[in-house]
Amino acid sequence: MTTDKTNATGGAAGRISAESANRDRCPLCGGPNGCAIEEGRPAESCWCMRRAIGKDVLASVPTSLRGRSCICPACAAGGK
Ligand SMILES: [Zn+2]
Repeated sequence: MTTDKTNATGGAAGRISAESANRDRCPLCGGPNGCAIEEGRPAESCWCMRRAIGKDVLASVPTSLRGRSCICPACAAGGK
């Protein structure tokens, strides 16, 4: 009915620019990354401290977003 330009359907990697990226968003899928630090909790309580993230997954993060945004558990698991 209406033109819905802003409602992204998700899944399109590389659409997020460094400026517009939210640090609580996964740079790969744009979903919430569940980062404990961004939620104001201790870093050691974050899921990423307990789970190994594959090098292939890290390599797929755009360089502009590396070290800025955490990836989400689903992407960290290599979820495809
Ligand atoms: Zn993700």
